[in-house]
Amino acid sequence: MKNIYGETHQQLEQYFLDLGEKKFKATQVFEWLYEKRVSSFEEMSNVKKSVIQVLQQDYVMEPLKIMDILTDVDVHKYLFQLSDGEKVEAVLMKHDYGNSICVSTQVGCNMGCTFCESGRLKKRRNLEAYEMVLQLLMVEEHLGERISRVVLMGIGEPFDNYENVMKFIDIINHPKGMAIGARHITISTCGIIPKIKEFMKEKRQVNLAISLHAPNDTLRSRLMPINKSYPLTELIPVLKEYVDETHRRLTFEYIMLKGINDQKVHAIELAKLLRGINCYVNLIPYNETSHIEYEKSSKERILQFYDTLKKEKINVTIRREFGSKVMAACGQLRSHYEEGK
Ligand code: SAH
Repeated sequence: MKNIYGETHQQLEQYFLDLGEKKFKATQVFEWLYEKRVSSFEEMSNVKKSVIQVLQQDYVMEPLKIMDILTDVDVHKYLFQLSDGEKVEAVLMKHDYGNSICVSTQVGCNMGCTFCESGRLKKRRNLEAYEMVLQLLMVEEHLGERISRVVLMGIGEPFDNYENVMKFIDIINHPKGMAIGARHITISTCGIIPKIKEFMKEKRQVNLAISLHAPNDTLRSRLMPINKSYPLTELIPVLKEYVDETHRRLTFEYIMLKGINDQKVHAIELAKLLRGINCYVNLIPYNETSHIEYEKSSKERILQFYDTLKKEKINVTIRREFGSKVMAACGQLRSHYEEGK
């Protein structure tokens, strides 16, 4: 049976029309789910009994199981168990401008980035839309606060699960859903070109972030196998087209790996690569994990890199570090459990 949290407003409208009911019922159900946050169909007191019975036949309304919560300054990390026993993580970060959540989109990941913990465990399956929606709902309930920003930077590659991710965004973005503004949602991708093109055509206001991590194809292919299929020489022109078409500013994520991609020559090469693109670079201090040999660059090195980019007139920020004590690198908590430690 389908989980009700995976239905878009539009799908519910169609569902009610097919039942011979008014499509306005979809709005009522959305209000019960996302404003009043009921936990059973019976509580939907303005929906007539016969309709509730049909809903109960067609849908379940089951939450996820929270298996573990780790807490550090301004960060909570949640481990969820899905109905088939699989596990994924979400991370809640408290900023002065509000709460943001990092959600997972797949169980494991097939992209195989050499520095990333998530990819050590191969993809077992895609997450369904309801499993992403419930990450938000469960965290808000635990926190007793609203989430204002969503980043798709947890376990998985969002563009390897395109349809479910778009459904998820439709649900949380809907004014009668969680009403999270599209501009407050960010999809992060390792650069799957056909999906970037598809996403470009949708003309959504959702932010796009590209995991770049290297300024040239030789180094990027070493760090990220996906670069062999979709090299920078093809990716960058598509991203230029994306900015032209959507008039949206792109984010480039750049993990700082000690002695690998953090020298001045890399910064200069990066500036050259991105010259003329409406974008900014987010420098990410690498979150070290016990299984992977890379180390994070020193603070000084990161600041030097930052200064070089600034001098080259590239917009750049350094990401605040969250939760190294709570195994915040994506996939760390899950692999810790899966490997039975
Ligand atoms: N697959 C998507 C989204 C998930 S990864 C993508 O590649 O963008 C989210 C971001 O975290 C990516 O930029 C990824 O490269 C980065 N990341 C992975 N492991 C990390 C680590 N140990 N420390 C810091 N960032 C990491």
